[in-house]
Amino acid sequence: MSITHDSVLAGVEPADLMSVESLFSEEERAIRDRVREFVRSEVVPGAAEAWDRARFPDELLAPLGRTGVLGGCFTGYGLPGWSSVSYGLALQEIARGSGSLSTFVHVQSGLAMAAIYLLGSEEQKQHWLPPMARCEQIGAFGLTEPGAGSDAGAIQTLAIQHEDGYVLTGEKRWIGNGTIADVAVIWARLENGKIAAFLVETARPGYQAEVIPRKGSQRAVHQTRIRLENCRVPRENRLPGAVGFGSTRSVLAHSRYGVAWDGLGQALDCFEIALAYSKSREQFGRPVASFQLAQDKLVRMLDEVTRAQLLSLHVGRLKDRDEVTVPMISLLKMSNLAMARRVASEARDLLGGNGILLDYRVMEHMADIEGVYTYEGTHDVNALIVGHALTGLRAIS
Ligand SMILES: Cc1cc2nc3c(=O)[nH]c(=O)nc-3n(C[C@H](O)[C@H](O)[C@H](O)COP(=O)(O)OP(=O)(O)OC[C@H]3O[C@@H](n4cnc5c(N)ncnc54)[C@H](O)[C@@H]3O)c2cc1C
Repeated sequence: MSITHDSVLAGVEPADLMSVESLFSEEERAIRDRVREFVRSEVVPGAAEAWDRARFPDELLAPLGRTGVLGGCFTGYGLPGWSSVSYGLALQEIARGSGSLSTFVHVQSGLAMAAIYLLGSEEQKQHWLPPMARCEQIGAFGLTEPGAGSDAGAIQTLAIQHEDGYVLTGEKRWIGNGTIADVAVIWARLENGKIAAFLVETARPGYQAEVIPRKGSQRAVHQTRIRLENCRVPRENRLPGAVGFGSTRSVLAHSRYGVAWDGLGQALDCFEIALAYSKSREQFGRPVASFQLAQDKLVRMLDEVTRAQLLSLHVGRLKDRDEVTVPMISLLKMSNLAMARRVASEARDLLGGNGILLDYRVMEHMADIEGVYTYEGTHDVNALIVGHALTGLRAIS
């Protein structure tokens, strides 16, 4: 029997054998369902084409702003003040529709807005956060450099102090939104060797960004190379809370938490599509889902996503009670992304040849998961953070 991607996607339903749904509050479900509807009606229809053409769908910025997801669990300054679980569920839904769009959200909300919220002055927060929450102003977060990836504490970008401010010189790599941002949070080294962060309006002379071309992952969002050549910023653009490399931790922990839900959302989508597909695709005169080997794959996928849902929810509840630690978030991120990689691969297999077509969504997820597996701390770096907590012995400084 021949089937189409439209008929398969129309038949996708949430699969919830363990009644995880019963663990969410009414408000959490309402937020998730609102974002799910935005994703279903506005993100999914154009996602495969945008990914294929490596085009960032900027027409989604205003509707994305209206979902209220940006700024997530922060309060004041026009921010939603959601619970961490609601924020996680919203990110899960965006990632279902487009891993690239959820990466945009992680940069805008999880990194740039979080840096301003957690480390900025009152004036900086009032100026930037309300329009960023509406997606009217776009942010970037520049930590990584060509020579400093996992070892981000080794950044070389220099900030030389002058009477009225600072002059920044250096190069950043892999920076999301660098070409479309209005403001970039740039991490740099002061003359005394200490690390600080600055808000750099991208219209300033000396700021230049170019898109990194030919990516095979995260194609519908742009990572960039940024060059700073004698880029002058006034003194008031320095983030007062960013004192030393340790200041990156609160921001990265917040963002890493959101990124973990991204892996869950993509895995859920892969699983539910594989389930719908294998029920409607017939071979040997019966649905593929009726074969024992296919059922084994589906059950293993369900097992993986259910455990990830429970772990994500548990960490979200701990975060809401202010009881979460950095190693807990690292374990969640590495666990969810490794799980997503396995589930996407099984789902791709179950879709046969159609599994490599972008229209069936799974291949795009499979490729996008690779980028997320690496950013917000690679799998290995997060494992070393957990290993330190477990053993008391530090493998990296
Ligand atoms: C899609 C995407 C978006 C990104 N967005 C941003 C952004 O917006 N802003 C930003 O600042 N950065 C961003 N990054 C950069 C990202 O944070 C880095 O890619 C990441 O930290 C890894 O650095 P690297 O790529 O240089 O890899 P490397 O650090 O060179 O790592 C290469 C390999 O070595 C392993 N490794 C490194 N050190 C150790 C160790 N001590 N022990 C064991 N194994 C080790 C790593 O796990 C990895 O497998 C993004 C990256 C990607 C891919």
